[in-house]
Amino acid sequence: MSKVDLLIRNGKVYTEDGFKHLDVGVVGEKIAFLAQPGTITESVATIDAKGQHVLPGIIDWHCHLREPGFTRKEDFETGTKSAAAGGVTMVFPQPNTDPVPNTLENYMLQVELGRQKAVVDFHPIASPLAHAAGHVDKMSDEGVAWFKIFQKVDKYPYSTPAATCNTAEILAAFKACAKAGKYCSVHPWDKSFHDEALDKVRKQGLPLITENVRPLWYTNEEMASAGYQLYYLAKKAKMKWYAMHAWMPDFIDLVRLAKKEGVIDVISSFEMMPSVDPAQKLYDPKTGEWAKFDLSHDSSPDQDYLWAAVMDGTIDLIGSDHAPHAREDYEALLAEKPEGYTPPSLGYPLLEWYGHALLNKVNEGRLTLEKLVEVTSVNGAKAFGFYPQKGSNLPGTDADFTICDLDRVWVADSSRIYAKSGFSSYHGKKFKGKVTHTVVRGNVVMVEGEVTGKPGWGKFITPAKQ
Ligand SMILES: [Zn+2]
Repeated sequence: MSKVDLLIRNGKVYTEDGFKHLDVGVVGEKIAFLAQPGTITESVATIDAKGQHVLPGIIDWHCHLREPGFTRKEDFETGTKSAAAGGVTMVFPQPNTDPVPNTLENYMLQVELGRQKAVVDFHPIASPLAHAAGHVDKMSDEGVAWFKIFQKVDKYPYSTPAATCNTAEILAAFKACAKAGKYCSVHPWDKSFHDEALDKVRKQGLPLITENVRPLWYTNEEMASAGYQLYYLAKKAKMKWYAMHAWMPDFIDLVRLAKKEGVIDVISSFEMMPSVDPAQKLYDPKTGEWAKFDLSHDSSPDQDYLWAAVMDGTIDLIGSDHAPHAREDYEALLAEKPEGYTPPSLGYPLLEWYGHALLNKVNEGRLTLEKLVEVTSVNGAKAFGFYPQKGSNLPGTDADFTICDLDRVWVADSSRIYAKSGFSSYHGKKFKGKVTHTVVRGNVVMVEGEVTGKPGWGKFITPAKQ
């Protein structure tokens, strides 16, 4: 066998027939061979993956990189360095940027910024809420994989033209996505439940803080009622529906029903940050202390139900929902200003712990390693047209790998953080399972927590032409 550029030896390699003891040979940016251990002898660089698993690169289907427009919070370089540190080889940034990628020009501006600065591969999600007709078609022709709408939210941090409170506008956007043959995802949210909750808290004379308001609106009824309306609109438009943020039990049941009906294509996801691993406190490495702001998120009310829906295939994808803000944003949250009350889900940085946190869930028995690969890589790559270039370990495809040690027990030390906001909710957390190497198209971009990849390596990846 000829000489390879990178040899990954002795690992348990993911294949469509399960994990197998194989050596992986990489030539240039592609997987050249999967071979019996010891077959490939000559290589420029070698990783000994003895006792470790070699997964197709973990893809984050849902993160906020804040560029353009909000680079004081995060940008393509800091966000994708975080991704590399967390074992992620490709990211799908969400469209609540400024400008919003709702025209081809705005979309390509974001792509250009990514090309200059990204360390891992990327594909920005576009908004179908264009101000003039035809933009959904134009962006689809250019390779946009799917579209995203933020529903019925009109306050900071969601005040963005990527959001709408107008159901007729959502239906029109769904029709445009259907015409282009694209999935559209919507953050389901029924604002009336939220406003009602605010009223109740005000009347009781209690402070308008997250822990008083959120439990009153963040319910099955709120999320599922928004979801049923979206499903109805998606059917009317004959659109492929991406049921995002499916973590409330009634919403999961809706996804099950919609898949069973089979009227339209349906895929679904939940996101780690708001549903599974909610931040309670953020660690500040600058002061070496836990920051005073307490986000007090609550997670999905039934974790068993949620993870069972992953294992039975109701949930197709998991995303991180890495959603960092700057220090002053969190401080504004802390300041008690009733009219400045920040509505739900002020997010926080998550990406650099994402792959590790998922492996920890495998060790907790929430999902199998095979299922982890499906929901972070295979399923989305197939649904959105990236397979097998992404989402497989097949010879001839991109050499993206997340190499991990499932047995490693370690404690997260957030004294150095790649995310721009610099906060961590994981400092001191004990994990079982660690990503040791992140490889993007043959280039090792992270080794044992140290990001070695350079800005500009990340490539804008588009689905294969169908
Ligand atoms: Zn999000």
